[in-house]
Amino acid sequence: MSEREVLELDVLFVGAGPASLAGAIHLQNLLKESGQKASIAILEKAGEIGAHSLSGAIVDPRTLKELFPDFDQQNIPFESEVTEEHLYYLTKAKKFSFPFIPSPMSHHGCYISSIGKLTRWLGEKCENEGIDIFCGFPGTELIYEGDQVIGVRTGDRGIDKNGEQKSQYEAGAEIHAKVVILGEGTRGSLTKKLIQRHELMNGKNPQVWAIGVKELWKMPPGSVQPGYVAHTMGFPLGHNIFGGAFLYGMQDDIWDLGLVVGLDYSNPAVDSHHELQLLKTHPWMKSVLDGGELISYGAKSLPEGGWFSIPKLTVNGAMLIGDS
Ligand SMILES: Cc1cc2nc3c(=O)[nH]c(=O)nc-3n(C[C@H](O)[C@H](O)[C@H](O)COP(=O)(O)OP(=O)(O)OC[C@H]3O[C@@H](n4cnc5c(N)ncnc54)[C@H](O)[C@@H]3O)c2cc1C
Repeated sequence: MSEREVLELDVLFVGAGPASLAGAIHLQNLLKESGQKASIAILEKAGEIGAHSLSGAIVDPRTLKELFPDFDQQNIPFESEVTEEHLYYLTKAKKFSFPFIPSPMSHHGCYISSIGKLTRWLGEKCENEGIDIFCGFPGTELIYEGDQVIGVRTGDRGIDKNGEQKSQYEAGAEIHAKVVILGEGTRGSLTKKLIQRHELMNGKNPQVWAIGVKELWKMPPGSVQPGYVAHTMGFPLGHNIFGGAFLYGMQDDIWDLGLVVGLDYSNPAVDSHHELQLLKTHPWMKSVLDGGELISYGAKSLPEGGWFSIPKLTVNGAMLIGDS
């Protein structure tokens, strides 16, 4: 049986999503400002940064501007600044334009982006700042000393389907850190354990989830305006299901089409994936996608409970960030 390797760090982030990547860079900036040094690493279960990421995404550049004061010189791999924005109410066959876009739905000054490209870019920034990123390593257990989190154990490798060790078995490592920061995204496995053990949802509203189902469409040359944004309400979800659709114009003639569906619907026959297919039967959507080819598809959950569903974020030795 192989020995568990032990790595000692100051700060360990779990999950290389935007929250951890930005958090690690921010921490490094603060340390530099105060003339201190600390060892920082990020653990990511995907084989490479961005491989498990899925988002819209319209990015509000506020945080990036704080992280990178020379934002304009940074060549951040955005698809486009938002150039045109619409909010529509759809019936089964018609489309009505809202007379104005309410400010929470307005994305003036924001950027359409691919979260995969953005996280890979942030990952490079981290590495340039001396932050280690370990891809392909899922954090599987929190390590405790009493009630204090002191690290994370990574998953064992070389286990067969019956849970038995194969000849190439390799025990996971123990990564000890003064602070463990969980940026696992929604329903993270370590986050769930932390919340349960420390009762971090006590006195909070239960979390409400939505699922975002999304497709990328490659269109004929010249047919997609990068920076185009449309959000819709109404068809196919109707009035009893929280959610709506988005359509974003990306570079290289790609439409980014998605539907967010609140998972607190009461009709058990609702199927979010099917709802997206129904959306594409709308005459407007049909005309938008005419001549195009579906090139990728995915789905991911989002927390929708808002402020009152945020768990207590800190315990001794650990904290939660981002969608965690
Ligand atoms: C369809 C859709 C559309 C969206 N549109 C927008 C938008 O337009 N604008 C916007 O601002 N936001 C949007 N969001 C929300 C946004 O994508 C999330 O808020 C954001 O990605 C959260 O970042 P995060 O770093 O907290 O988590 P994530 O992006 O989920 O990243 C978590 C990372 O942690 C890794 N991980 C998880 N558990 C472990 C573990 N135990 N060990 C190691 N690694 C682990 C995962 O592999 C993943 O890489 C959208 C989301 C969806 C699903």
